[in-house]
Amino acid sequence: MACRLRIGLTGGIGSGKTAASAWFRRQGIAVIDTDDIARQLVEPGQPALDEIVREFGAGILDAHGRLDRSALRRIVFRDAGRRRRLEQILHPRIRARAGQLADAAGTPYCVVVIPLLVETASPYDLDRVLVIDAPEELQIQRVMARNGMSREEVEAILASQAGREARLAAADDVVVNDGDLKRLHGQLEGLHRKYLALAEG
Ligand code: ATP
Repeated sequence: MACRLRIGLTGGIGSGKTAASAWFRRQGIAVIDTDDIARQLVEPGQPALDEIVREFGAGILDAHGRLDRSALRRIVFRDAGRRRRLEQILHPRIRARAGQLADAAGTPYCVVVIPLLVETASPYDLDRVLVIDAPEELQIQRVMARNGMSREEVEAILASQAGREARLAAADDVVVNDGDLKRLHGQLEGLHRKYLALAEG
């Protein structure tokens, strides 16, 4: 049975996407993670990896024939045209795979985690968009604590992502994750009930 309602979950770095999707999983809801899909697509032997090598050269492979992510990141970081090329290779495949997984999911609704949903404006097949929102200062503190990154490093990533306003403009539902996990879970509980009701209707 395909899930009847597809919820796209997005949010900036450190907003709480992983914490929120873990909660949905614990409720037995199918969670489809596009970052996981992207990683699987570039495993050795996958057509997307062959295409990336044709486009960017064998220099983006490590000694074991696996994708050297930092080498690729260095190339596309400075060059918007090449970044677009990479997206053209990956995004249609990610969308197709996410669609297949949603079609195969046996839960009334499913959650598709798409960190850069607003930035890439990819035409995903979604019924609603849920934004996990947090004040920037909290995002910075959380990511510094989690990854041991400097404030400047986190700020640079924040600057490369869509701002809160652009993200909120795309939202059907918003969870403000500025309290403890209990508060986050309480808000998600309300949405869970709403999504179940919408999926029934
Ligand atoms: P990224 O985009 O970097 O993957 P994310 O949006 O998935 O981040 P999380 O990993 O869920 O964000 O949260 C960032 C960090 O903040 C984690 O260490 C997480 O445990 C912590 N965190 C998230 N929400 C809360 C909360 N409500 N209370 C306390 N800690 C939290």
